[in-house]
Amino acid sequence: MSNYHPLTEPEAIQIAQSIPGIFEPQGELVSREIGDGNLNLVFHVSQPSSGRSLIVKQALPYAKVVGESWPLSLDRARIESEALLIEARLAPGLVPRVYHADHEMALTVMEDLSSHKIMRQGLIDGGTYPLFAGHISEFLARTLFFTSDLGMNQQEKKTLLGSFINPDLCKITEDLIFDHPYTDADTNSFDDHLRGDAELLWNDAELHLEVALLREKFLTHAQALLHGDLHTGSIFITPESTKVIDPEFAYFGPIGFDIGAVFANLLLHFASQEHWASDESSRGARRQYLLGTVRDIWTSFDNTFRALWDEHGVDRVAKPKAYQDDYMRRLLQDSIGFAGAKMVRRIVGLAHVADIDRIPDAGVRAKAQRIALAIGKSLIKNNRKTSSIDRLIDIADSAA
Ligand code: ADP
Ligand code: MG
Ligand code: MG
Ligand code: MG
Repeated sequence: MSNYHPLTEPEAIQIAQSIPGIFEPQGELVSREIGDGNLNLVFHVSQPSSGRSLIVKQALPYAKVVGESWPLSLDRARIESEALLIEARLAPGLVPRVYHADHEMALTVMEDLSSHKIMRQGLIDGGTYPLFAGHISEFLARTLFFTSDLGMNQQEKKTLLGSFINPDLCKITEDLIFDHPYTDADTNSFDDHLRGDAELLWNDAELHLEVALLREKFLTHAQALLHGDLHTGSIFITPESTKVIDPEFAYFGPIGFDIGAVFANLLLHFASQEHWASDESSRGARRQYLLGTVRDIWTSFDNTFRALWDEHGVDRVAKPKAYQDDYMRRLLQDSIGFAGAKMVRRIVGLAHVADIDRIPDAGVRAKAQRIALAIGKSLIKNNRKTSSIDRLIDIADSAA
């Protein structure tokens, strides 16, 4: 019999108190549940007298989806805490510190990052993050290289892969990203004014071919240990610091899926500038900033990944420069294709993004949604023809 049960606030406080070296012996602790309550509980436990605090995140055994309950394995909490530990080792300073994990209770106790802002909100508020491209490309290159067959012993990789079998959360991605947006599925959700645009998605054979190929990669291509849910809501940020949270979707999959998630969310924000920019000139400047960030992320990722390969590559067979060039070209293509798939699902699928959903005027929102759809479809259709990040920039520029 498992002891698992959802924590109460007094229990969260008790767990926090048991973590050595955080709180002062004297001084009361207070707890506040700050999660959105759909999949997980997130308790912020603090000691007002000392100003110290931490986070207790606990998985719930179900997700609320369109009014129903969708069972979800609690094992994802183990996966999340183990992924955070691996990421902390490979990309120091870019994830919250883990203080404690209890797999039976499906909880992780970690560093409180309340001094940072969730990046999606930071962007909506007009923030600029000059160090972000460097930080996130470092996170991507190091976590993905050192868990791939290029950067880790290939037998050890097969063993590690077994600790990150994540069928329930992979199924969410397989259904909600690669299937439902392309058919008249019950889970889809979109504004009435987008019905015609959605029907075009459902009847586009060229698009369906590319989505099937991307889905096949997601299902079968165990290239490296992915974060698996790397949108701007999984990134805490300040102008100086970047921290990646919430790797509960981690599994061994195609590297481009994580890179594409970052691109997609910057491009969704690009589309949302129809509303958030106050005039044409600031909209243009903001869009250039976002596209410049995408370009910098790819350029730094490409440089860092190749440098790691040259210095730490474990595989003699993978040495030829022509193989490295071919591999990097395929990573770019995958990143672009997955970015497109992630954009489309955020407009017509189950879960949307605040950047676009919070646009109050329906006409302006429709414009932003259509820009996002146009970019997303074009990225999907062109992914296998792409040989440079310039292609993505051109696609975005011509849709806006
Ligand atoms: P979920 O998997 O349910 O999306 P997240 O890990 O994304 O959970 O956390 C949900 C919210 O809880 C975040 O958007 C953030 O507001 C808060 N949160 C999560 N982790 C931390 C942390 N380490 N420090 C501060 N707040 C956090
Ligand atoms: Mg959430
Ligand atoms: Mg989250
Ligand atoms: Mg999550």
